[in-house]
Amino acid sequence: MITKGKVRTDKIERSEEEWRKLLTPEKFKILRQEGTEPAFQNKYWDNHEEGTYQCGGCGLPLFSSQDKFESGTGWPSFTKPLADDVVETEPDTRFGMKRISVKCARCGGHLGHVFDDGPPPLGTRYCMNSGSLDFVPKK
Ligand code: FE
Repeated sequence: MITKGKVRTDKIERSEEEWRKLLTPEKFKILRQEGTEPAFQNKYWDNHEEGTYQCGGCGLPLFSSQDKFESGTGWPSFTKPLADDVVETEPDTRFGMKRISVKCARCGGHLGHVFDDGPPPLGTRYCMNSGSLDFVPKK
């Protein structure tokens, strides 16, 4: 279980060079360079197993399969993170779009974006890159 405030005291900071050594090229591109993987050609968009999606950079549990839904976008989509403080958001105006990017609160790794067109009652759609996550099946 993640307790409030734990994440903030637990920040992981590494140089770009360190991350490059630690991560696969795919993970590095998404997590550290804010890359986006192709829709429908990624590991988890159609994954229906029960389990937890953790940060591909630092292993922090971020999303539950219970909050995953069929968005039709070709990326794994969730209505909410596992806890309010496991992710952080910031405005992203790249490519002429106004979006809100989502990153891991512990290591700062880029995960994807959050939109306000998700299903009720929350209305949020966390559109994530599979390549920024590691899925851990429920035992
Ligand atoms: Fe992380």
